[in-house]
Amino acid sequence: MLWKAHLLAGSSTGIYVGSLISPENILPAALIGAGAALLPDIDHPNSKVGQIIPLVSWTIRLTAGHRGIFHSLLGAAAVTAIISGTCVFFNCPYSYKLLMSVIFSALLSHIVLDSFNPMGCCWFYPLKMHLSIPILHSGGFIEKLIINPIMFVLLLWLVYSRVITV
Ligand SMILES: [Zn+2]
Repeated sequence: MLWKAHLLAGSSTGIYVGSLISPENILPAALIGAGAALLPDIDHPNSKVGQIIPLVSWTIRLTAGHRGIFHSLLGAAAVTAIISGTCVFFNCPYSYKLLMSVIFSALLSHIVLDSFNPMGCCWFYPLKMHLSIPILHSGGFIEKLIINPIMFVLLLWLVYSRVITV
């Protein structure tokens, strides 16, 4: 999947999880979710995150490979703990529970979406087994014409049902 689908899924996840844990912080939860959902592709230098910090991205690509630890449950848990812990350490205004829940679920949304690609994801890293339901190609017409519009409608519905009508 390309960044648009991950961004839409991450912000939807942030709104949903944020509405359950801390309804007064739905907008920050949506933004945190959107950002977190882009992070796993730090292992690909051509990704949005990889283009922002190319040296880090190339280093990860050469040492850990694409869709390795950063596309796994272990990586999602570690990234969640590091970011949430850092935010709480620096007195971020959001609770640890909100940060952990939004970041982990957004990272998980990324892994789930990428698992519909033939390459799949290394869910149980360090096991090298990639799991996939190979029905989509990254950037293909199904992603652009079906998945992205569905994600956008889902986001609009969540904004309507969890933000506007509450
Ligand atoms: Zn990815």
